[in-house]
Amino acid sequence: MTEEQRLLAAIPPLLEWFRQERKPLPWRGNPTPYQVWISEIMLQQTRIEAVIPYYFRFLATFPDVAALAAAPDDLLMKCWEGLGYYSRARNLKKAAQTVMDTFGGVMPSSAEDLRSLPGIGAYTAGAIASIAYGRPEPAVDGNVLRVLSRLHADGRDVMKASTRTGVEDALRQVYPRGEEAALLTEGLMELGERVCLPNTMPLCDRCPWQELCLVHKQGTEQQYPVRAAKKERRREERTVFLLRKQGTIALRKRTNEGLLAGMWEFPNVEGALSLSQVKETLTAWGLTVSSMEPCGKAKHVFSHVEWHMTGFSVTCDGDRDGLCWVTPAEIAADFALPTAFKAYKKQVEQR
Ligand code: SF4
Repeated sequence: MTEEQRLLAAIPPLLEWFRQERKPLPWRGNPTPYQVWISEIMLQQTRIEAVIPYYFRFLATFPDVAALAAAPDDLLMKCWEGLGYYSRARNLKKAAQTVMDTFGGVMPSSAEDLRSLPGIGAYTAGAIASIAYGRPEPAVDGNVLRVLSRLHADGRDVMKASTRTGVEDALRQVYPRGEEAALLTEGLMELGERVCLPNTMPLCDRCPWQELCLVHKQGTEQQYPVRAAKKERRREERTVFLLRKQGTIALRKRTNEGLLAGMWEFPNVEGALSLSQVKETLTAWGLTVSSMEPCGKAKHVFSHVEWHMTGFSVTCDGDRDGLCWVTPAEIAADFALPTAFKAYKKQVEQR
């Protein structure tokens, strides 16, 4: 059997399985292209259960493309607070503005046009085109790569872009149109999430592909997908300051480039500073320190870097350019702080 024949044979049982087994989710059941888009962006890097409340809140605040294009930045960030990877939210707004300016306020339906929008790559374009518009476009993410590499006992490295492109091309040859395009996209995703699980042994006895799957026949499920060793994450030590002055706390805005671009944060510096180094640094900033104490360590893992943070709670006077002094109530209501600072934000709220 060729790969194409196996794919063609695999589609009907998968659609049948998905029709019977699909999980009811808020973005399923005739969603608008806008709803598919928002859900797919939120689901990148975030679990389904965690996304659901954000999805409802986001749609209540920004019900359509026009509302999103006109979103005030701080409100947008507040709605995204806790989901992480904030560039996703910034790109949503930029893309919404492009849809208003270039596509007359209507989400485009072709994968090519969708890919021209900020933050929309091949996967998301395929998901919107197939789920919302019934176009024969695959949406290949890590789940789909894993499932198909097992189906075909495909020995290519799934971390390589050429493998992904090859899988997309093969799927495009056999993709159905209309309702079945949507069912196939979602069915592949759900098979990967619920049955053909990563790392642990896949639940082959529940799989609609038991008869077709090459690795299941060979008993080599654990050897697929093939993946070259990952690069180690960079470890970065940081010292975080909770600067307190007359009932207020200092925040500052990050630059518009790089990690957490444009987000508010507690002032922090590179390195794990000692008490005396903290005092030296803050004095050089023009602040007068009246008392300070360590306030705990925290760790946050980004995709390519890990922050290992040491916090200091400091009572001080004076000011420095770029610092914004706000009350804990204002932080809770109006400022979206990245999840990386969650442990320190909690301390501010509790005090
Ligand atoms: Fe995955 Fe097993 Fe199904 Fe093959 S039979 S696709 S390994 S769950």
